[in-house]
Amino acid sequence: MYKGTSASAGIGIGTAVIVEEAELVIRRETVEDEAAEVERFKGALDKTMKDTEALAADLATRVGEKEAEILQGHLMLLMDPMLTGEIENTISNEKICSEYAIEQVCSMYASVFASMEDELMQQRATDMNDIKARMQRVLLGLESVDIASLPAGSILVAKDLTPSMTAGINPANVTGIVTELGGKTSHSAILARALEIPAVVAVNDFMSHVKNGDQVVLDGSAGVVYVNPDADVAAEFAAKREKFLKDKKELEQYIGKPTITKDGVHVELVANIGKPEDVEKVLQYDGEGVGLFRTEFLFMDDRTAMPTEDEQFEAYKAVAEALKGKPVIIRTLDIGGDKEIPYMGLEKDENPFLGYRAIRLCLDRKDDIYKPQLRALLRASAYGNIKIMVPLVTCIDEYRAVKELAAELMAELDEKGIAYNKDIQIGIMVETAAASLIADIFAKEVDFFSIGTNDLTQYTMSVDRGNDKISYLYSTFNPAVLRSIKHIITCGREAGIMVGMCGEAASDPMMIPLLLAFGLNEFSMSASSILYSRKLITNFSTEELQAVADQAMSFATTKEVEEYMRAFIAGLE
Ligand code: PEP
Ligand code: MG
Repeated sequence: MYKGTSASAGIGIGTAVIVEEAELVIRRETVEDEAAEVERFKGALDKTMKDTEALAADLATRVGEKEAEILQGHLMLLMDPMLTGEIENTISNEKICSEYAIEQVCSMYASVFASMEDELMQQRATDMNDIKARMQRVLLGLESVDIASLPAGSILVAKDLTPSMTAGINPANVTGIVTELGGKTSHSAILARALEIPAVVAVNDFMSHVKNGDQVVLDGSAGVVYVNPDADVAAEFAAKREKFLKDKKELEQYIGKPTITKDGVHVELVANIGKPEDVEKVLQYDGEGVGLFRTEFLFMDDRTAMPTEDEQFEAYKAVAEALKGKPVIIRTLDIGGDKEIPYMGLEKDENPFLGYRAIRLCLDRKDDIYKPQLRALLRASAYGNIKIMVPLVTCIDEYRAVKELAAELMAELDEKGIAYNKDIQIGIMVETAAASLIADIFAKEVDFFSIGTNDLTQYTMSVDRGNDKISYLYSTFNPAVLRSIKHIITCGREAGIMVGMCGEAASDPMMIPLLLAFGLNEFSMSASSILYSRKLITNFSTEELQAVADQAMSFATTKEVEEYMRAFIAGLE
């Protein structure tokens, strides 16, 4: 078994086709007539642009405008007078052939892009190398690998796939993709998802373990690949594939349907995201909004400095606009605990989960961290239905401090005439035992609740959420946690505020019936869980679930609750 990064969900079964672009040998040849050579370059440039335009148009109709944008980006590079002018000058000044001038200039730009921190800029390096090779192929009269005509049942294996190679794929014939390089957000991974071809990328040294004609099976969600699997594994993957396709197809009927229980209770099914790019999936799976945008991911990855207020503003605005007026709950920075950010220079806490993190840290570092984030959020609120959510709140003073700060920043924006939503809602995550115990007090002041069961379970049970040795205690079905959840929902509902849940429990099929019975308004989860949850919810009646919830709440142990709920769900199938 080979392990890589999951890039596109689904099970791929087929025959390996190794795609290796013929190595381009570019030599430095001198030319006599540099003017004629410049014309030769212009001809090749023209043909490459026409080919790219045709590929982009084909992709736009077969897949979508958004995906074709990647090739539009190639066109922009090809049309950039700085780039082409520099190539022409190199040909003229150095009296060298076009192929070599292209090599020199494009490689220089590619290495500049590759050395930048920004992932998008690094992607530009791939794009630059892609157009470089395509122009050189045209000049050398070499055909590109004809991916469009691969035989049915092919598993495409490559060191890396350029976007233009991926764009040429016919999904009817390619049942899977495995590459040695690439990442979840590389353009070829984005295209694989758009084409709905299962893909595993970043499988170390894979090319030396596979040859043309080998049988390959892969699980795009788990990021695993087998070469020439034994009969048991092959049968297991065949069954998995059947199930994946059947389940997926069946769930499509829930796209565009409202999320209403059989007795007419409307709830919201929204998504958890970590980056603006994740919105694509939210829309694909018909999310009714975003219930949790974990903004710390904008601060993490390979960054060496904090995102600026403007960078944050652009990210929040992009999400708000893409959701077109649907609610977008953005959580302010939740770092510390297990989420470290090296460049922030935070000291190591003795008890990280009980220490200097989230709102505690933000209120202590208003000037460099919290104010820029709140200002970015307020400015972005002019572009959609943004709500602000405060994490790890334990006492009302923290919430009041945030409100005060927001009011101060609003006054500043007013003075400068900068637009923002004056009625922006500010709510809290209820994820500490303290906040739960005084949920009635919070409910009178805050605009909404979102229950963070990941932490609420940890803090209620006094059990580190990441410690395997004591994970037997970590269950949302523990009677103490269940009581806490029910109490929070009741307090919120009595005060007339929206109560959501964005912890993992919100998409647990065994938990959903209980949450509906308790009166939860909003369920926030990973986008790919939305349609299944809608299916479940629309088949329940909250009235009928009251008895189930009463029974579940009557048990003394986690085991009894879990067994009862497992049997209840199994009984539905
Ligand atoms: C939670 O605690 O339930 C939650 C959603 O937040 P996180 O997992 O980011 O701590
Ligand atoms: Mg949390």
